[in-house]
Amino acid sequence: MEFWLDLNAEQQDLREWVHGFAEGVVRPAAAEWDEREETPWPVIQEAAKIGLYGFEFLAGAWSDPTGLSLPLANEELFWGDGGIGMAISGTSLAVAAIYGSGTPEQLVEWVPQCFGDAAAPLLGAFCTTEPEAGSDVGAMRTRAVYDLAKDEWVLTGQKAYATNGGIANVHVVTASVDPELGTRGQAAFVVPPGTAGLAATRKLRKLGLRASHTADVFLDGVRVPGSCLLGGREALDERLARARSGRRASRQAAMRTFELSRPAVGAQAIGIARAAYEYALEYAKTRVQFGRPIIENQAVAFALADMRTEIDAARLLVWRAAWMGRNDRRFTAGEGSMSKLKAGEVAVAVTEKAVQILGGAGYLRDHPVERMFRDAKIYTIFEGTSEIQRLVIARAISGMPLR
Ligand SMILES: Cc1cc2nc3c(=O)[nH]c(=O)nc-3n(C[C@H](O)[C@H](O)[C@H](O)COP(=O)(O)OP(=O)(O)OC[C@H]3O[C@@H](n4cnc5c(N)ncnc54)[C@H](O)[C@@H]3O)c2cc1C
Repeated sequence: MEFWLDLNAEQQDLREWVHGFAEGVVRPAAAEWDEREETPWPVIQEAAKIGLYGFEFLAGAWSDPTGLSLPLANEELFWGDGGIGMAISGTSLAVAAIYGSGTPEQLVEWVPQCFGDAAAPLLGAFCTTEPEAGSDVGAMRTRAVYDLAKDEWVLTGQKAYATNGGIANVHVVTASVDPELGTRGQAAFVVPPGTAGLAATRKLRKLGLRASHTADVFLDGVRVPGSCLLGGREALDERLARARSGRRASRQAAMRTFELSRPAVGAQAIGIARAAYEYALEYAKTRVQFGRPIIENQAVAFALADMRTEIDAARLLVWRAAWMGRNDRRFTAGEGSMSKLKAGEVAVAVTEKAVQILGGAGYLRDHPVERMFRDAKIYTIFEGTSEIQRLVIARAISGMPLR
């Protein structure tokens, strides 16, 4: 599939459809759920009802041979609101893990249970970060031990910052099977609904994305059937044997999930940035000081010109990476990381500029740029911090094992 910047009719329809939902349903609810700091179930239900929340939607977006459908949809949804956008999108992290590492049978069994149905939507959670293992995934302490007699895996450890942790129907948990092998000794497991030993007692209070639930997840001897190992026993044994013999391992579970999701996450950041830019542009045209709209000052107009330029530049990097990922192009210069790095940094800079353009009004909750500014910051932190993205790019362009 050639890279092409003109959107086809289907992509234009998708964009308009998601934009309509974002404008009509998400935006009007944004301030309320940010204040409540609760999962916006009625909005998720609306999204499920129209088919925007569910595997069919995700599968349709993933099947677009240009790779652009998911970034397009994410940009519009998060243009509506970051917190509600994440409440709707958080499940896709768990689904991407099952899709990336699971067998076709596991996909069929677990993905529908992540989403529920239109009448009663459910959530999924992907739990990999730990208190002592954030950027350093190799420091993971959660252990998975196989109980041969019962054909069960026993998971023990603690996960940190899990989106939908504890309120999800299905949790996907990464754990170390062989700690001596570092990241190459890790695997991902599905924890089925209602499994004993999984608890999330502490809901985390956050700067932004407050409509999205985040919690620490504790695993106390959690027993899951052998069939819950994503990819199956044979594939794991083969991977471990390859690692033990010093041969190159295939990419391990958590990293593969992140690779799949980076451009899509970048698109979320762009949606928030664009919303703030549009709001500031309109404000600058109508706010009068010294007898003229503030946009007539070059300092303000140029700030808006820079904001728009940076948003467009970030979007091009996201679209390129999404196209490359979908078309199996190798990321020889860390293009996936570039897209997420640029989009995250742009979202923070643009939302901060938007607050500045609104002056005192921008600092108040009366205007949405205050919330957008708080929501944007997470995009330089999760799914790999900006520093880690730079590390990936630096390794790719230098060919050196930088640390
Ligand atoms: C709202 C929210 C939702 C999240 N959702 C999920 C989720 O659903 N599932 C999940 O598993 N995780 C989730 N996370 C966790 C997130 O991915 C981590 O917070 C992130 O990877 C960073 O890890 P850390 O917080 O431990 O920071 P640390 O790794 O401790 O990093 C601290 C600082 O040190 C810097 N640093 C670390 N190593 C290096 C290095 N080698 N070179 C240069 N700088 C370095 C970092 O860039 C950062 O600035 C979420 C986090 C938040 C806040």
